[in-house]
Formats: sequence, C-alpha cells, structure tokens
Amino acid sequence: MCTFRAIVIEKNDTSQIVGLKDFSEADLMDGDVTFRVTHSTVNYKDGLALTGKAPVVRRFPMIPGIDGAGVVEASGHPDFRVGDQVILNGWGTGETHLGSYAEKSRVKGDWLVPLPAGLTPAEAMAIGTAGYTAMLSVLALEKHGLQPSDGPVIVTGAAGGVGSVAIALLAKAGWHVIASTGRAEEADYLRSLGAAEIIDRNELSGPMRPLGKERWIAGIDAVGSHTLANVLSMTRYGGAVTACGLAQGMDLPASVAPFILRGVSLLGIDSVMCPKPRRLEAWARLATDLDREKLGQITTTIHLENVITAGHDIIVGKVQGRLVVDIE
Ligand code: NDP
Repeated sequence: MCTFRAIVIEKNDTSQIVGLKDFSEADLMDGDVTFRVTHSTVNYKDGLALTGKAPVVRRFPMIPGIDGAGVVEASGHPDFRVGDQVILNGWGTGETHLGSYAEKSRVKGDWLVPLPAGLTPAEAMAIGTAGYTAMLSVLALEKHGLQPSDGPVIVTGAAGGVGSVAIALLAKAGWHVIASTGRAEEADYLRSLGAAEIIDRNELSGPMRPLGKERWIAGIDAVGSHTLANVLSMTRYGGAVTACGLAQGMDLPASVAPFILRGVSLLGIDSVMCPKPRRLEAWARLATDLDREKLGQITTTIHLENVITAGHDIIVGKVQGRLVVDIE
C-alpha cells in the first residue's frame, strides 16, 4: 500500500484530534491531477482549521492546508503534464477537499494555476492565499480607478500576512501607505516593507463615528468589525476600501454615511472561489510586482512537524509576515 506523510484532522464525539501520520494514497479524493506537494504555507484560515476554533473543516478525516505548490505526477487534464509546476489556492481544499499539508494532493485541474515564470514554488507559498488576496485587493482598488496620486492608502492588520504583502505591493506602486498595527514593536519591519506612517490599531478598533476626519482615499482591510467601520468613516470623498478579513470580528457595525455622503465604496474580496482569469491576472502581477527581497524578509520557513504549533500561533496573532512549509 502506498502512503505519504500528512497532517490529518480526525473527529470524535467531543473534539478534533490533529496529528502528523501516514495517509494512504488510495484515500485521496477525486481529481484529474495528482501532484507532489513540495511547499505549503500557514494562513489564518489554516490556523482556524488546525485549532478547531471555527468550523472550517467540513469533512473528516481532513488533511488541512488551503495552499499548495508542487510538481504534477499524473494528469488527465489537457492544461497540465507530468513535471509541470503548479499552485493551488482555496477551492475548498483543507475544508471540504483534502488539502496540502501532505506530500501528495489530488484535485481538479481546473483549480490549478501554472507556476508563473520567475517564481519558485517556495516563493509562491511565501505569497500564498494571504499574498494573492492582497494582490486581489490592490487590483480591486485599481479597477475602481484609484491611483497613488489620489492620496494615502491605509492597510489594517498590517503585520499579518495579507497586510505585509499589501504594504510591499502598494509601496512599490508608489502609494503613501499608512499601516495600522497593534504591535508597536513591528514598526521597523513595517517601514522596511514600505510603510510611510504607522498608526496604533486602537485608533480604529473602538466605537465608530458615522463620519470622521477624511484621512485616506483607499484602504485594504483584513480586520473587519469596528476597524472596517472606522476605516470607512475616515475615507475621503470618492474613495474605496476592500474588505477581505475578520481578524477583529465578522460584524460590521457601520453607518451608511460614508456611502451616501462621500460616495465611498466597499469592495468585497474573496480568494476561495475567485474565477480563474482573475487568479491568473493576480499571479502574473505578483510575479512581476512583488519585490523578492522584501518577500524573503517577511518569510520564515518551517516543516510539516511545526505546522500544528504554527496554527495556534497565527490565531493568537504571534506570527509575523508569512510562513512557508517546506515539505520536500
Ligand atoms: P494574520 O493572522 O497573518 O494577520 C491578521 C492581522 O490582523 C494580525 O497580524 C493583526 O495585525 C491583526 N489583528 C489580529 N487580531 C486583531 C484584533 N482583534 N483586532 C484588530 N486587529 C487584529 O492573517 P492573514 O493576514 O493571513 O489574514 C487576515 C484576514 O484575512 C483573516 O481574517 C483571514 O481569514 C482573512 N482572509 C480572507 C481571505 C478571503 O478570501 N477573503 C483570504 C485570506 C485571508 P497587527 O498585529 O499588525 O495588528
């Protein structure tokens, strides 16, 4: 019987049990491409799955891991051949379909993106869903017609994965980036990524005023709740804010005032079911626009053995930047 190493989540009557074990290849789920996973990463959602803090996993046993990169071993899909390097983000992997904290994965070829020229699999996972979501957010601001000469942009959850990549991308494009963080000790790190100003997240996380002083023309929010409501209330006339995350909370205790009095727009960002053409656009832009030195600077490499601990760390906000899981 062929087996491979994988992190597996099982469930009994009262709790979930997570461990690194051998998994049978015969138990892989349906798909027309099988690939050798060489790298993965740990996102906030992976932390939720690994700790069981939110009901992310909807099938047991589950191999968590919403992101993977690797090399095709077998393919019945016209776009992929044996030896091709591929990236996988989302589509329910690690939630309803076996994910990427494993040496092997079998998925629908339609879910895969070819590794863009110029990126290594490790770099693609340093970017991961967090970085690709940051890029989707930047694209959304651009499609709204906003540009650096229009004014400053605020990034919330700045020292996290989405925030760190967003700052690097925006600064490289010429934006004046205001980084909102709860970790004052990360100020040098955020400046090195390109943040021009740093504000304490407490300025934004309290009760919302319907309209505040106009401080930025754009925002990328990974935090939700009061923070997003306050970001909206301080957005300049005609500006836009993208919402991708819920690190503070799922709620949005906001007022319609910014929308109806300042023409502010709230742009939703979903990475999981995002259509393939937009994924390809985002990955192509990441390959050309993201400074590799900065990416290296925000990345820490771990191994499958460290993933469960990392999942706990990311949930309590102890992870800086991005984690790459080296599975080779
Ligand atoms: P990280 O944990 O790396 O970053 C989240 C950051 O949010 C933290 O580093 C911290 O930043 C800040 N934060 C944490 N707790 C609070 C709090 N209580 N109040 C205010 N700020 C807080 O996660 P990711 O960057 O990977 O993901 C960010 C969010 O985006 C998550 O909610 C995630 O689920 C979501 N997401 C959504 C996607 C989508 O498709 N829509 C895709 C990817 C992520 P600091 O220390 O700087 O204050």
